[in-house]
Amino acid sequence: MSATEPDPQRMDAVVALCKRRGFIFPSAEIYGGFRSTYDYGPLGVQMLRNVKEAWWRSMVQLRDDVVGLDAAILGPPDIWRASGHLDTFTDPLVDCRKCQQRWRADHLEPAEDGTVRCPSCASTDLTEPRDFNLMFKTHTGPVADEGSVAYLRPETAQGMFLNFKNVLQTTRKKPPFGIAQVGKSFRNEITPGNYVFRTREFEQMELEFFVPPADAPRWFDHWVEERHRWYVELGIPGDHLRIRPHEKEELSHYSVATSDVEFLFPFGWGELEGVANRTDFDLKAHATASGESLDYFDQAANERYVPHVIEPAAGATRSMMAFLVAAYDQDEIGGEARTVLRLHPRLAPYKVAVLPLSKKEMLTPLARDVLGLLQPRYLCDYDDTQSIGKRYRRQDEVGTPFCVTVDFDSLDDAQVTVRERDSAQQVRLPISELVDHLTGRLNL
Ligand code: ATP
Repeated sequence: MSATEPDPQRMDAVVALCKRRGFIFPSAEIYGGFRSTYDYGPLGVQMLRNVKEAWWRSMVQLRDDVVGLDAAILGPPDIWRASGHLDTFTDPLVDCRKCQQRWRADHLEPAEDGTVRCPSCASTDLTEPRDFNLMFKTHTGPVADEGSVAYLRPETAQGMFLNFKNVLQTTRKKPPFGIAQVGKSFRNEITPGNYVFRTREFEQMELEFFVPPADAPRWFDHWVEERHRWYVELGIPGDHLRIRPHEKEELSHYSVATSDVEFLFPFGWGELEGVANRTDFDLKAHATASGESLDYFDQAANERYVPHVIEPAAGATRSMMAFLVAAYDQDEIGGEARTVLRLHPRLAPYKVAVLPLSKKEMLTPLARDVLGLLQPRYLCDYDDTQSIGKRYRRQDEVGTPFCVTVDFDSLDDAQVTVRERDSAQQVRLPISELVDHLTGRLNL
């Protein structure tokens, strides 16, 4: 990936690959599709799991100061009244009186003379902006009245605040410590679009990190740096990432400082993740509204305080799109053009493909044995259709880091050929050494 300018062709190529190879399908396609919803196909579900797993590994597994949570998606209005979302989780909506399209006022660029036009029909006859709440409202139980109103969560964060006390009591963690969660969130976006960048149903990966108030600025800096590093480590080129601190007017109602990690998407810079200093806003708001104390007693200092919260909030589906865009490449191998996804092995849907050189029955048992050797360790593909060259190309196109080829010599010498995706270089080695060899090179 080299272009540092917007590159719409790359976007089209990635979208086409995702459809053709089973990463992402438009949802409800046989009914003409359902706007802004997508289904993750056989390879997409695997890659999305890998993105979430890579996040969990870095945020929970490799730390001793973070624990996990999986909270409910449905919740009563009380939560969202206290959190401020019922009043303030809104976008400014304008209608075009001519073509009836709706737009987010803050996404419309005024022309040089200051006029604002409808992006669809260019009319200037737009309504005044009005606040539109982004939360999905529903009803629980058989009677749809005011008493049964519930909301789908627009962020996973509130689950961590509601369970702050439960986690404190059950884990004996003390600040600084964090609660991590990965899961679906829902926002009734006015203008979803740019593929899976902005959808109404999406997945988030959020950490609420509770700290003594005086330490909040230091932890804020720590998490901005740490989260930037995570994307670089997983293969996003540094010149396609930037940190953008929010202007004061831009800050969410709960934040005193926010920095976004942004990626240069083919359509321009876009947020991958926001790191926010949420102060004690949420814990205090829920303590007041619920009557439960949500503070921490520091025995050593003999002091009671409400921790401040630093929140790195990332999108799993949006990050997956960034990883796909960054990995997409075209080059030539032996004079032949190929498409290759240079995905980090941790993110690649398949780690290894086992390819018997021919479909001839005599190769099948050994190829199946090799597959059986690798399957408990890695998600593998097995492919015995078409020529070996075509099969290599197919694996390159979906980012499989290694192909293992079983040929007729393998039957005599118990050796196989391992081909690496990016260089297409091959080595031959004994099957008995295969697991160690791949484990070393995949370095997961
Ligand atoms: P944006 O400004 O793009 O609307 P946001 O600042 O409202 O995003 P946050 O509330 O900070 O987003 O949510 C954290 C992360 O969740 C975002 O950085 C993004 O990766 C992801 N996210 C938020 N809204 C969506 C959406 N509609 N579709 C896909 N991912 C989303």
